[in-house]
Amino acid sequence: MAEKKRITVAYGDGIGPEITRATMRIIEAAGTPLEYDVIEVGESVYKKGILSGMPNEAWDIVRKNKVLLKGPITTPQGGGFKSVNVTIRKSLGLFANVRQCKAYTPYVAATHPGINMVIIRENEEDLYAGIEHQQTQEVTQVLKLVTRPGSESIIRYAFEYARAYGRHKVTCMTKDNIMKLTDGLFHKIFDEVAVEYPDITSNHQIIDIGAARVAAMPETLDVIVTLNLYGDILSDIAAQVAGSVGLAGSANVGREAAMFEAIHGSAPDIAGRDIANPSGILVAATQMLVHIGLPEYAEKIKNAWLCTLEDGIHTVDIYREGLSQQEVGTAAFTDAIIERLGRKPRQLDPVEYRGGGIHFELKEPVVRKKELTGVDVFIHWADGDRDPEIIGAALEKISAGGLKLKMITNRGVKVYPGGFPETFKTDHWRCRFVSESASVTFDDVLSLLQKVYQAGFEVIKTEHLYTFDGERGYSLGQGE
Ligand code: NAD
Repeated sequence: MAEKKRITVAYGDGIGPEITRATMRIIEAAGTPLEYDVIEVGESVYKKGILSGMPNEAWDIVRKNKVLLKGPITTPQGGGFKSVNVTIRKSLGLFANVRQCKAYTPYVAATHPGINMVIIRENEEDLYAGIEHQQTQEVTQVLKLVTRPGSESIIRYAFEYARAYGRHKVTCMTKDNIMKLTDGLFHKIFDEVAVEYPDITSNHQIIDIGAARVAAMPETLDVIVTLNLYGDILSDIAAQVAGSVGLAGSANVGREAAMFEAIHGSAPDIAGRDIANPSGILVAATQMLVHIGLPEYAEKIKNAWLCTLEDGIHTVDIYREGLSQQEVGTAAFTDAIIERLGRKPRQLDPVEYRGGGIHFELKEPVVRKKELTGVDVFIHWADGDRDPEIIGAALEKISAGGLKLKMITNRGVKVYPGGFPETFKTDHWRCRFVSESASVTFDDVLSLLQKVYQAGFEVIKTEHLYTFDGERGYSLGQGE
C-alpha cells in the first residue's frame, strides 16, 4: 500500500460543499491513499470580520500540507474584503495557473468539437506586479516585469506538464515583435528550454494571431504557455469557446504549494438543490493527484468520469435531449462515477498519466558583464508650446562625465533632433544621455540630474542604460 499523502480541503460557498464532498467521496471510493484536513474559508469567515476570508489556523494547515483542494468562494462586494484566491496565490507564490479546456463531443454539446487545450499562464509577474505611477498631469505608467527565473519556471513547468499528461505540442505566445526585451526574453528562454524536450513539438505565435486562433480554431492548439496578462485574457476566451464552465478545472502551482479548483464560481442560484455538476472540481482533483504523485488514481477516476459522460448520465447543465440518456442530480452523478471506477471509456479517449509529478530545476544563471553607458532622464514639461527644440537647446549645453544628450522622445517617438511637427506631444519627455567613450559612473548621473534640474526642468524619473557583455539592455526610440 502506497504511503498516504495529506492535503487540505476547503468546501467553499454556494454549491462548493456539495461538489467538493462529491469529489472526496469519489476519491475515497477509488481507494486513493489520501488523508485530509478541512479548513474554513470564505463567506462564513468574512462574516466574522476577517477581511482576508482565511483565518490564521487555516493558513497554518495550508502551509503545512502544501496542497489545497478548494471549492468556489463567494467574495463579498466592497467593504475592503480581499479575494481568498488572490491572497492564496500571492502568499504561497503559486507561479503557474493551469486551465484545461476540452470538449467531450458527441456526448456533451460544444461549439468546437475538437478543442482539447491547456493554457499555462505565468501568475506572478508581468503587468500584474502592481507597480503603477502617475508621473505628470497627463501620463500614467505601469511597470512590466519579466524575469529570467520567473519565465524559465513557467516554461519548464509547461514542458514537464506536457510530458506528465501525454501531450505533444507546446506553443509559446508573446508580443516580442514589439516588446523585444521583456516578451523577447520569454521567447528566448522558451527556445532554450524547448531543445531539452525533443519529444515535444514546440512553436511560437504572436499573441494577437494566437488569441484569434484560440477563438476560431482551438482544435489546432495543445499546450499554450504565456505571460500573465495574455494568459488571463486567453483563459477566459478559451472557457467561453469550450462552452462548458461546469466541466473545467484549474490549478495554481508554486515551488512549494499548490491549489486546485473548478473554474466556475459558487453558483448561489442553484446551491443546496442537488443539481450542481461536480465535474469541474473533480477534474481539478485529478490534476492534483497527478501533481502529488498519484497518477494511477487520477487515471482511474478520470476514466470512470469519462465513462459516465459517454453513458449519457448527465447533470442538468449538460443534459441535451437526443444526446443524453438520463438526467441526474449531483449525488446520483457521483454514484454513477463510483460504479464505473476501474472501467475505461469506449468512445472518448481514455487518459494515461505518467508518475512522479512535475519537477524541474532552473539552470545556473550566467552572470554577464554589466556596464553603465547612459541614462534616460524623464522630465515633466508643458511650456513653450511643447516645442522639443527648446528642451533640446537647453540640454545640449549640459554634460557630465562623458554623458551628452543623444535624443528626446515623447511617448517613445523621437522628437529631437529632427522630429516631425505632426507628432502629438504630451507633458512627459524622455531625454537620452549617452557616453560615447568613457564608462559612466553613478556620480556622473547624479551630477547630470543636478544640472538638468538647475536648467529649470522637473526630473520625474530616470532609467539607467546598461550593456550586458556589450549587448544593449534597452530599446531604441522609434526613429532613433
Ligand atoms: P458562477 O460560475 O458561480 O455561475 C455562473 C452560471 O453558471 C450560473 O448560472 C450557475 O448556476 C452556473 N454554474 C456554475 N457552476 C456550475 C456547476 N458546477 N453546475 C451547474 N451550473 C453551474 O459565476 P457567478 O454567478 O458570476 O459568480 C458567483 C460567485 O462566485 C461570486 O461571488 C463570484 O465572486 C464567485 N466566484 C468564485 C470563483 C472561485 O472561487 N474560484 C470563481 C468565479 C466566481
